[in-house]
Amino acid sequence: MLGFDLTDEQRELKELAHKFAEQEIIPRAREYDDKEIFPVDVCEKAFAAGLMNFGVPKELGGPGLGVLDTCLIVEELNYGCSGISNAVGANDLATLPILIAGSDEQKRTYLGQLVKKLTFCAFAITEPGAGSDVAAMSTTYRREGDEFILNGTKHFISNGSRADWYVTFATSDKRLKHKGISCFVFPSSVSGITRNRMHGKLGQRAADTGEIFFEDVRIPASALVGREGEGFKYAMATFDHSRPEISAIAIGIAQRALDECLKYSKQRSAFGQPIANFQAIQFMMADMAIQIEAMRLLTYKAAWLVDRGEGANTISAYAKAFSADATMQITTDAVQIFGGYGYMKDYPVEKLMRDAKLLQIYEGTSQIQRVVIARNLLKG
Ligand SMILES: Cc1cc2nc3c(=O)[nH]c(=O)nc-3n(C[C@H](O)[C@H](O)[C@H](O)COP(=O)(O)OP(=O)(O)OC[C@H]3O[C@@H](n4cnc5c(N)ncnc54)[C@H](O)[C@@H]3O)c2cc1C
Repeated sequence: MLGFDLTDEQRELKELAHKFAEQEIIPRAREYDDKEIFPVDVCEKAFAAGLMNFGVPKELGGPGLGVLDTCLIVEELNYGCSGISNAVGANDLATLPILIAGSDEQKRTYLGQLVKKLTFCAFAITEPGAGSDVAAMSTTYRREGDEFILNGTKHFISNGSRADWYVTFATSDKRLKHKGISCFVFPSSVSGITRNRMHGKLGQRAADTGEIFFEDVRIPASALVGREGEGFKYAMATFDHSRPEISAIAIGIAQRALDECLKYSKQRSAFGQPIANFQAIQFMMADMAIQIEAMRLLTYKAAWLVDRGEGANTISAYAKAFSADATMQITTDAVQIFGGYGYMKDYPVEKLMRDAKLLQIYEGTSQIQRVVIARNLLKG
């Protein structure tokens, strides 16, 4: 049986998130983007409204939502502004390795902390010399007695300059490639860490994107997440869970672009009539609607499979690649429909186009999604 009905609870969550976006996010979006203001105030309100840390299990005091429920909320928040929503939602990525492989103690300590008070955390895998090629990372760890010692640099990390704790990855020996990588969780207050906010992003400018330097960072053996040498596996499993959520961000941005175009095209006149009367404009909006519907179907199916614990590696990559690329096209067309005004900051669509670009880059570029898909196809 195939059904597309949302439960009452899912409908309520969607409405709550949409109202939050309208009331708390949209009014701040332009200024926070211009000035690169990290939206602590919005995060405080989101935290109070139960709109953060969705995956923290109920037994630890969290909402215990699955990926599908999370996607429904993420879509609505990102309708408001994906820069501000990155701040609200980036914790989720860091919680995943703990949920996947963390000990009960790590879950109690780190996930428990997230629901007690407003706390930020970050998932730090990317390095200046290793992005797509995760296994080429240079951050190292070595064991000394009951401690691990980390050295290296991570960059482009969401929440990187303000996280209260990090989930990060390091190698015991670069020659071992992915088999040498382990995953660690520890507070950002340990000594040996310096960090900066990186400025000058094209889009999602309210979000904190940081670089982190680990210099002889000593952490206890209990900071190891799961088993030594299995960090790469946990990182890839994390992306299977998180890619449908990136796809949901894309839906939020794309839906907003379409809604803005529907409104504007009825108001703007050319050649004595609203531009909405021109078939060229109608077709662009019809194509947007087709793509958005397809994005939703792919995203919800990927999320549903992840929630069922079924292999979602390929479909999560389908969803992320398709939605990111479609949203880039949709937001570019939105600027086109607005004409010269679309190119100006007084109107909302240039920001949507700038924000959308990131979807094709983080959590695996659009090319890397195709690498994953093609590899799985060829494996048969
Ligand atoms: C705003 C922002 C937030 C981010 N947040 C986080 C975060 O929270 N945590 C984190 O760890 N990282 C984060 N990232 C990093 C992001 O995931 C990486 O930038 C991304 O994975 C790409 O890595 P790279 O930038 O090193 O590009 P590269 O890997 O150098 O890629 C350059 C180009 O080569 C292409 N390419 C590379 N390999 C292949 C291949 N095998 N086949 C075909 N093409 C290929 C890529 O698709 C791309 O077009 C963030 C990045 C940004 C910009």
